Amino acid sequence: MSRFLRRLTALAAGLVFLCSCGISASRSVDVQFTAMDTFIHLTAYGAGASTALNAAQQSLLALEKQLSVTEADSEISAVNNADGRPVSVSEDTAALVDFALSMSRRTDGAMDPTVYPLVRAWGFTADEYRVPAQMELESLLPLVGAEQVDLSGNTLTLSPGAMLDLGSVAKGWAGDRLADDLKQAGVSSAILRLGGNIQTVGTKPDGSDWVVGIQDPDSEGMLARLSVRDCAVVTSGGYQRAFTENGKTYWHIIDPATGHPARTGLTSVTVVAPSGALCDALSTALFVMGTDRAADHWREHRDFEAVFVCEDGRITITAGLEDSFTLMDGYTEREVTVLR
Ligand code: AMP
Ligand code: MG
Repeated sequence: MSRFLRRLTALAAGLVFLCSCGISASRSVDVQFTAMDTFIHLTAYGAGASTALNAAQQSLLALEKQLSVTEADSEISAVNNADGRPVSVSEDTAALVDFALSMSRRTDGAMDPTVYPLVRAWGFTADEYRVPAQMELESLLPLVGAEQVDLSGNTLTLSPGAMLDLGSVAKGWAGDRLADDLKQAGVSSAILRLGGNIQTVGTKPDGSDWVVGIQDPDSEGMLARLSVRDCAVVTSGGYQRAFTENGKTYWHIIDPATGHPARTGLTSVTVVAPSGALCDALSTALFVMGTDRAADHWREHRDFEAVFVCEDGRITITAGLEDSFTLMDGYTEREVTVLR
């Protein structure tokens, strides 16, 4: 089992442990599978939970087929292989691309769905890791930027050589979609774990908050926990996919401005907000920005909360999490700064 999968499994196991506290009285239904290149674990409670979760699994697998950058017959692959020709895509895909482009503009390109030529050069898509030459990266940088994409209705046209990667937003967006579908099906209590993306529906069956763990980026332990209800908790971390060459570690979150893995002193960023798509786009963007720029972004928008973990172990949280953030045993000595 790869280090990545081992970590995901440990993360999921930790979350299951945390989330199952105090809910033994209600019957839960679980579905576990692999999709979107990650371990998926969906849990729902109450009447209709089983049917609703099976439908959720099917809909996630269908979304993956549509959005995957690696599946040859996905809509995104059709766009990426079109060599500048317009491609007609589904309403869903068009809506997600539109959202991703709007988040790219909001974050000044820190999160950018056109980053794929760079992600591919580092070998992160196929797990064939390599350190590209600086000249190669420089030749790819002009292909990256929201201006490479024209979206008119459901017609998507990329500049020749430009390519899309929705990996920074697809899981969060899918989490929103699954949560809406579960609510439509009458489910009022569920927790959806899509790798580092958690989407909660309502509260635990006993009316209390869900408890979601934040992983220690330097080990498989849980650094802290957050109490939340009816919202998403999404983490982007260098530890989630990385390789080491000549003693240097390179991770999968790329700074679109330089073409290199983003190194700002952060090792993970967790974002909390009602929308999983917003959390997912922002967790990637804030990781690229670093704590100071991310703090400015929070002060400007105030539509999310966040936890920043630094390489030196220091933790920064936004003011809205002061009452819901708790360090776990073994980490209580960590310095925590509250942004205001
Ligand atoms: P996440 O785990 O949500 O932070 O997304 C990381 C994934 O998005 C990577 O595996 C890449 O496929 C892609 N990616 C990497 N860097 C960026 C970036 N700056 N903006 C958008 N997508 C990115
Ligand atoms: Mg993301």
